[in-house]
Amino acid sequence: MYIYDMELDPEIEAVGDALRYAETKHPNYPKSLHRRMSILTEEIGEVAKAILDYEDNRGDVEDIKHELRQSAAMCFRFLKHLNKEEKE
Ligand SMILES: [Mg+2]
Repeated sequence: MYIYDMELDPEIEAVGDALRYAETKHPNYPKSLHRRMSILTEEIGEVAKAILDYEDNRGDVEDIKHELRQSAAMCFRFLKHLNKEEKE
């Protein structure tokens, strides 16, 4: 059986750092699922912008990675709160 070593993957660590940063900066996570989805979608939009900037020689691949990490962090935050949620 393959066991993925999350602790040794630097990208997983980076997503964890992005998640901890977001939770510290914005400790009050919204209850609304639509608001949560908007937060995630905003980050995905920033990935799209970073890609456009990169392809137009106005940005760096690191900017894409940064936005992907933030998007993954917001996806994880949504996921980890979903079971505790009550429908509005
Ligand atoms: Mg972002």
